[in-house]
Amino acid sequence: MTPKLDFSILKTLTQLSGISGREGAVRAYLEELLSPYADEVRTDALGNLICVKKGTSGKNLLLCAHMDEVGLMVHFVDEQGFLRFVTVGGIDPRTLLAQRVWVQTQNGPLLGIIGTKPAHITTEADRAKAVLLKELFIDLGLPADTVKKQVRPGDFAVLARSYEEFGDGLISAKSIDNRAGVFVQAEVFKALKNPFYNVYAVFTVQEEVGVRGATTAAYGIEADVSLCLDTTGSADIPGVAPQDYIVRLGGGVGITALDARSITPQPLFEELKKMCQQARIPFQVRVAPRGGNDAGAVHLSKTGVPSCALALPTRNIHSNVEVCSKLDLEAMFRLTLQSAMQGIHF
Ligand SMILES: [Zn+2]
Repeated sequence: MTPKLDFSILKTLTQLSGISGREGAVRAYLEELLSPYADEVRTDALGNLICVKKGTSGKNLLLCAHMDEVGLMVHFVDEQGFLRFVTVGGIDPRTLLAQRVWVQTQNGPLLGIIGTKPAHITTEADRAKAVLLKELFIDLGLPADTVKKQVRPGDFAVLARSYEEFGDGLISAKSIDNRAGVFVQAEVFKALKNPFYNVYAVFTVQEEVGVRGATTAAYGIEADVSLCLDTTGSADIPGVAPQDYIVRLGGGVGITALDARSITPQPLFEELKKMCQQARIPFQVRVAPRGGNDAGAVHLSKTGVPSCALALPTRNIHSNVEVCSKLDLEAMFRLTLQSAMQGIHF
């Protein structure tokens, strides 16, 4: 019997704020959640959280899911108290127009608005222009001197958006990338009982800026095999040809053959597909010539680690209306749990 996923944990995870290099709130939540289930919990120098559960075979499975989300960092407070910012991770500036954000200050979060000129005072030519990051600003609605006292360059901000379940088993929130992978990995870790492998569940930092956390975490673990749990852009939307979808929402867990950073070794790739077929776990093959994830760092660690990126189809990725499917989450959970409990025999 597969345990039921507790989606309230995913809701909590998506409401936490943690851009790359500022994952502290997510790490603290996971440490408290998973410590009762772990034989060992530690945090390394970069901030990766490593939860260990001992197994029966003496072999080591490295699971990776990155805690960081894309977001903003304040670099300047202007004379009127408006904040100027840079993006951390890949964000399309068009998706930032007219959004609410939470600015994390030394005295707690402040709600900010990324303003935009209304149609009444712009021309058609204005509106046809590209949205430039340097023209955007955050309005905190406070006097300039108050803002200057409270907000410092280096403070970060995340998109503000509630978690909603809608449609046919779908979820929309900010930071589905990659709190969804974090959620599945946490639920797998909680369900482990005498697993085949020694399971190292690593919640990594700084994936969105170049898989930095996974690079050091993998180096510290003698992994025999690795699965990296992350989202992938699901382009199954109007205006895109079916051959360019990459994956389909609700089509099952994506088993990566290739992305821009790694190629899954053929025996591992074939075995994971076979495990899905035998256990009737919905899956789809992911071939993504653009984009990468933690597997790109893990498979190159030391003398090499056989690695596969398990991918959760996500529409509108890197925006505040990311969408994923419960069916895909459950498929990813089942494949990962079975891999840990029974071994991947490739
Ligand atoms: Zn990701």
